[in-house]
Amino acid sequence: MIRITDRSSCCGCTACASVCPHGAISMKEDRMGFAYPQLDESLCTECGLCVRTCDFIQERAKDPVPDRVKVIAARHVDDEKLAGSQSGGVFTALSDVILAEGGVVYGASLTDDYSVSHIRVDNIHSRECLKGSKYVQSNLTGIFASVRNDLQKGIPVMFTGTPCQVAGLRSFIVPHLQENLFTVDFICHGVPSPAVWNDYVTWMSGRAKPSGVSFRDGDMGWRVHWESFSYAGRKEFRETWRLLFYKNIMLRRSCFRCPYNINERKADVTMADFWGVEEIVPELADGKGVSMVICFTEKGSKLFSRASSYLRTAKAVVSKEFLLRKNPNLVRPSVPDKDLECFETAYQEKGFVHVAQRWADLGWRYKAWKIKKYIANIFRKK
Ligand SMILES: Cc1cc2nc3c(=O)[nH]c(=O)nc-3n(C[C@H](O)[C@H](O)[C@H](O)COP(=O)(O)OP(=O)(O)OC[C@H]3O[C@@H](n4cnc5c(N)ncnc54)[C@H](O)[C@@H]3O)c2cc1C
Ligand code: SF4
Ligand code: SF4
Ligand code: SF4
Repeated sequence: MIRITDRSSCCGCTACASVCPHGAISMKEDRMGFAYPQLDESLCTECGLCVRTCDFIQERAKDPVPDRVKVIAARHVDDEKLAGSQSGGVFTALSDVILAEGGVVYGASLTDDYSVSHIRVDNIHSRECLKGSKYVQSNLTGIFASVRNDLQKGIPVMFTGTPCQVAGLRSFIVPHLQENLFTVDFICHGVPSPAVWNDYVTWMSGRAKPSGVSFRDGDMGWRVHWESFSYAGRKEFRETWRLLFYKNIMLRRSCFRCPYNINERKADVTMADFWGVEEIVPELADGKGVSMVICFTEKGSKLFSRASSYLRTAKAVVSKEFLLRKNPNLVRPSVPDKDLECFETAYQEKGFVHVAQRWADLGWRYKAWKIKKYIANIFRKK
């Protein structure tokens, strides 16, 4: 039976809780808002199904990452559709194919209070809220059972999520139901804490509730990563979340031992920002966003080729050295910040504002550092 003693050994995919035939496992949040399975021993029959279903803890052959990887650079032909997407709009193109064939799409959406949950959509209009990266772990409650229900009815399903969510789902769905299941993941840096995110949103709602939130606002350009909060008549661009995200100080513990490098992908298609595209496919690098796509299965290749009429594409080969330089999480997990433990304790005891002052941009320390950097730049130019 599943018992979590080390938080880094569970990615929170919900497969064990979804598969238990006796409802003995429920998902409970820790102090960072990350969900972990909790066992009710009085209901457990010790059948072992949950442990067999957990993909994250399976033993893996540690094959070396290949020196060269075949990829596709892709960009949506329609600039309007591209605008709402995070990189090249590949998700939009793939989901258009599934929806046009009467299928349904699962992905991460912002809720009314700006937390992040997976939802099911069956039309292009409601699909729009799935576009854009939400840099926080999404809530999967009830989603795996809903996917199985659709597949049992013969409805084609496209599920998008982190590599570990896709691996968990594929482990949960029995093989004979997977024919109509299309899975799409992305190169994943890691998922930040839902609790810290909720506190940030509450803090930003102090004077007025935002009418919109973006984790990486496209108005700043594809390459720039700033979050934005919209209020009546104005938009505030900020970097608090970005700074905490890239500091690797509030990611889920499992992300630092993530097994889902290129050899371990369970998705049919992987998508990513094509950082460094100007070195590899300069003709697509117009600054508006380009995706890198890797098809891992025949089913993924066929889906991608059906979506190709919506996309400008170019085949390319990239080296492991290029990936390590531009998008390392396809090769290895993120490295934890040395203050990881300290951050969690400080957050627990003193709250969001304290940690954002100490490790992000709310305090005088960051402002002083920015001024110093600005002055140093002036002298460097002279
Ligand atoms: C937490 C996180 C970390 C990422 N790390 C990297 C990285 O290191 N390198 C890289 O190149 N790209 C990374 N990405 C992916 C990248 O930001 C784009 O999502 C990807 O390039 C697809 O772009 P698009 O324009 O085709 O998709 P879009 O149209 O922007 O669609 C976004 C898709 O991502 C899904 N999604 C959004 N947020 C979440 C979430 N929290 N959990 C699960 N699914 C979600 C949506 O359901 C949708 O399918 C990350 C994304 C997330 C959410
Ligand atoms: S061992 Fe079986 S009964 Fe017990 S929690 Fe796991 S799946 Fe449920
Ligand atoms: S990784 Fe998924 S299946 Fe494994 S224990 Fe955690 S929630 Fe359960
Ligand atoms: S880094 Fe790995 S463990 Fe963390 S969310 Fe991404 S796929 Fe899951």
